[in-house]
Amino acid sequence: MNELDLLAAADTRGRAYTASVATRRVFPDADALAGLAVFEEPLPEQGLPAEQTLHLLDERGSPATVVSNGPRYFGFVIGASLPAAAAAERLMLAWDQCASSFDNSPVAATVEATAAGWVLQALDLPRNSAVGFGTSATACTLACLAAARRALLARHGWDFDRDGLIGAPEIKVVVSALVHITVKKALRVLGFGTAKIIYAPVNAHGQIDPAQLPALDDHTLLCLQAGEVNTGEFDPFAELIPKAQAAGAWVHVDGAFGLWARASNLAPLTAGIEHADSWTTDAHKWLNTPYDCAMAICRDANALASAMNSDAAYSSASSDAQKNLTLEFSRRPRGIPVWAALRSLGKQGVAEQVERHCRQARRVADGLRAAGYDVLNRVVLNQVLFRAESDEQTVAVREALQASGEAWFGGTLWQGRPALRISVSSWRTEDEEIEALVRLMEKLYR
Ligand SMILES: *Cc1c(COP(=O)(O)O)cnc(C)c1O
Repeated sequence: MNELDLLAAADTRGRAYTASVATRRVFPDADALAGLAVFEEPLPEQGLPAEQTLHLLDERGSPATVVSNGPRYFGFVIGASLPAAAAAERLMLAWDQCASSFDNSPVAATVEATAAGWVLQALDLPRNSAVGFGTSATACTLACLAAARRALLARHGWDFDRDGLIGAPEIKVVVSALVHITVKKALRVLGFGTAKIIYAPVNAHGQIDPAQLPALDDHTLLCLQAGEVNTGEFDPFAELIPKAQAAGAWVHVDGAFGLWARASNLAPLTAGIEHADSWTTDAHKWLNTPYDCAMAICRDANALASAMNSDAAYSSASSDAQKNLTLEFSRRPRGIPVWAALRSLGKQGVAEQVERHCRQARRVADGLRAAGYDVLNRVVLNQVLFRAESDEQTVAVREALQASGEAWFGGTLWQGRPALRISVSSWRTEDEEIEALVRLMEKLYR
């Protein structure tokens, strides 16, 4: 089979898969999982035909997917892929661009620059901020926190690039008691030391309590969050950020999914967030681009561009080239699916998608309450946290739901006890899937 026929075959299989996402089991059954054994083969001595390789991947791989690109997946704020973004991604793969800089890909540099501007506009963040398109909120948080530390040290006359950390002034890190694990990971990888992290106490909703905010100073890196993973709650930015600023601290906001509330009529939840120094958000979650795509956003564009600089004699570029804004040197143009998603939705479409998911989450919460479940959060966003009467029943409901294949969401621990967590974040989820989920949950309660 020649290259073009092979690509056409892949597209045909991809189309068939996409056409089936509404009806597939959401989590693979035992047969599909057993079928994965076929991949445990030795590295072939001689190459095998590409057509057969594609066939194997579809035959045994497609049935063993989690249908997170479907309408009945409610786990982990994993959004589906918008058609425009998925289609742009396909074309982009044919281009196979290294989107490090204009020299490597004029089209990528141009479209990503537009996407960056649109993201700042949609999220209403300072328009001169730098936007780096990275692989994940984790990687983008790492980039932002590296920039933050470097900038804080520079304010105290310390040249981090030259002198590193040994002997450097100590940077104090303050995070929410409910900080996301990936922020902790970024801090750990950067060498901050988990034992040194200071946790800010939270209120019953999971927001940092301003009255109990630990002392901040001009050596402090304060990490806040927009959209707590269990409750979807927001830290009170309008109270916290001015305090941090008065102290000379750097404020970073993890808004992996929650930052998108700012693009909707839920924007008041994020009031004051625009005064932070840096922000992280994902496109592969609530904006519904394909994996993997996230943004590192930094008010002081130069702070990010200096921390991430990778210019070399053979490869220099403008300071806003993407290779100078993210961890990656070679990368595909992740900003292109962002551009396509935003262009296909428009400002209004983004707002409608966010608002619809939040409305659907409230409907799920009402249905759960009516069925007898205990809804544990205020459902300010697209997250519903709940449990059944006993811990045993909560676990049993989760297991039965996951085994049903009709929908999928995960469990968590909330205040030390098992709880369940529903996220509504797929553009494909219509009200009928929400009603079906409510009926399923009623049945499982009984
Ligand atoms: C998902 C998530 C992250 C990590 O995002 P990745 O893109 O998976 O690295 C960080 N913070 C919050 C609140 C999240 O929901």
